[in-house]
Amino acid sequence: MSLGEAVGGLHFRPYTGKTRASSVPAGLMNFVPACSTTDAHSLELLQDFVTRARRLFVMTGAGLSTESGIPDYRSEGVGLYARTDRRPMQYAEFVRSAKSRQRYWARNFVGWPQFSSHWPNSAHKALQRWEERGKLHWLVTQNVDALHSKAGQKRLTELHGCAHRVTCLGCGAISAREELQRRFISLNPEWQAQAGTVAPDGDVFLEDEQVLHFRVPSCDDCGGILKPEVTFFGDSVNKATVQFVHERLAESDAVLVMGSSLQVYSGYRFLLAARDREMPVAILNIGPTRADHLAELKVSGRCGEVLQPQIYKGLSTSRQIFTSSSNKEL
Ligand SMILES: [Zn+2]
Repeated sequence: MSLGEAVGGLHFRPYTGKTRASSVPAGLMNFVPACSTTDAHSLELLQDFVTRARRLFVMTGAGLSTESGIPDYRSEGVGLYARTDRRPMQYAEFVRSAKSRQRYWARNFVGWPQFSSHWPNSAHKALQRWEERGKLHWLVTQNVDALHSKAGQKRLTELHGCAHRVTCLGCGAISAREELQRRFISLNPEWQAQAGTVAPDGDVFLEDEQVLHFRVPSCDDCGGILKPEVTFFGDSVNKATVQFVHERLAESDAVLVMGSSLQVYSGYRFLLAARDREMPVAILNIGPTRADHLAELKVSGRCGEVLQPQIYKGLSTSRQIFTSSSNKEL
């Protein structure tokens, strides 16, 4: 389905009572944890929850993007590219060691074309529609893959930054990651051909010898160190950003968590704040989360299968979970 066809709104995929084809394209299923189809009763409760909300605060995590083909490494806001040898890149190490930065950027350079080419799935599109229709007050994502902004989301905070942007640790200038890719290519014209192949999940393994010859540019303006604008381990989320999100939360009347186990405190703290404000909380996720005890509703399911952006009545279904009255409220 193209983005142009995303014309519906608050629509959950109906349960048909039988096994049906997954919405996840073949080949991407490897990144989505096993999960049985969400039952009709849970979907109804979730629909009621969202329908009741007037100013919904949504928090999303890696589970939303697995259906777009991005693996969930359960690492803090760093996605695929802040890891070296299956170990998350530490902020201090990145700053301290030119060698570590060289290895990091070499892997990142090879994996970038694939990582940057992923597209929003039906859950991203549905959330964008909720925003358009005034249902969604604010969206906070722990993902750094830019899929919400690719879907057109505007009322959005990327809590852990975005891998599509690069920041200079010297002067703070922000630039596009795509632009850095062009600089890598011109600095390393012969290098790419010698590099190893990218694994199906976008992971990249490079020999030390290859990394040694990879040339990493510095900031054009001040010569400072370039770093992706994402939160590494040992790095903290900007205080002003946290404050901003708390304010958006305070303006909201319900919280929906999607595709996050909330293991990381930077996201979990907003659930604690929601509890303090006695706000209703619902969670849609595969598997347990750290905030299950704070939620009045917990639904197990794949976000992309549960949230469908197309017009509901256009589907041939045995059960209409969405009533016309609830549609009018949007
Ligand atoms: Zn600079």
